[in-house]
Amino acid sequence: MNTSRALRLFLFIIAALGWGGGVAAQDDDQLTIVATTTQVHDALTILGGDYVDVIPLMGAGVDPHLYQPTESDIAAMSSADAVFYSGLHLEGQFDEVFQALGERSIRTVAVSDPVKQAGFTIGGFNLSEELTNVDDPHFWFDPRNWQMSVMLMAEELAALDPDHADEYAANAEAYNEQLDLLFEWATEAMAQVPEDQRVLVTSHDAFNYFGQAFGWTVRGLQGLSTQDEAGVADVQELVTFVIERDIPVMFIESSVPPNAIEAVQEAAEARGHDIGIGVRELYSDAMGADGSFGGTYIGMLAQNVITILQSFGADIPEWPEGLEPVPPVELLEMAE
Ligand SMILES: [Zn+2]
Repeated sequence: MNTSRALRLFLFIIAALGWGGGVAAQDDDQLTIVATTTQVHDALTILGGDYVDVIPLMGAGVDPHLYQPTESDIAAMSSADAVFYSGLHLEGQFDEVFQALGERSIRTVAVSDPVKQAGFTIGGFNLSEELTNVDDPHFWFDPRNWQMSVMLMAEELAALDPDHADEYAANAEAYNEQLDLLFEWATEAMAQVPEDQRVLVTSHDAFNYFGQAFGWTVRGLQGLSTQDEAGVADVQELVTFVIERDIPVMFIESSVPPNAIEAVQEAAEARGHDIGIGVRELYSDAMGADGSFGGTYIGMLAQNVITILQSFGADIPEWPEGLEPVPPVELLEMAE
């Protein structure tokens, strides 16, 4: 960020804080928490129940690597009880804002922290397989990592609102049991594709944790951040890879424009290799619209699994009893 933008931001935050006394008093019984990403928003809504008002910044289809906080976002963050974000530089344009909020003693919580502290983050590889020396920010794609974030979120809510600590802890425990069911189902599901075909090719490197969790090789056209644009060499390298490995299908991500993957498809065809595109987009860094199946963390992950299985022509195992939300019939019928 250049100096003038930093200064503008700083002044804006001061102003937003200054107005704090003047704005309409919020419901004293409710915490007001800003959530940057759709995943964090979903978890806080589940954990917080009626006690927390969660303000989302990014909606469905929004790329968090590129998202610039708006002035109204900064105003919301400046007057919230805390800001919960994903972290590991996923929110690539927020560093200065978080720093400024910290200087103003507004609590910011990176929900990836316990995953990093446990040593469960993985390094990033680009297409030339050189270490990029940054932690891969897409940790939530292993449900066991997300369970650690859920525990942290519940603990942080309890610290902010000790009167309801028991409720937050109980909500976290119940939700993590759901995530256990999701992980078991997804493990069984992702094993339906024969081992030698388990290669997931997508727009950018969002699926390393997903691949590691479920025993798949993953390849992204772009690097760990969509800020690293794919060049001609990246396209050619991926084309060679899909031809050599005889990959039948690649996937477009909902928060990344499809043209780069389509370029790979065209270039592969020019070299005599027909490769399909998945039956629908995968959710990578953003979930689906509010109220849709893919608008929940559980639905987002499950829909990705279902989309992958359908695209590979594999069978979908039975949905676990008690795991909510249940996949809609239209989603399951889209096979073939
Ligand atoms: Zn990403």
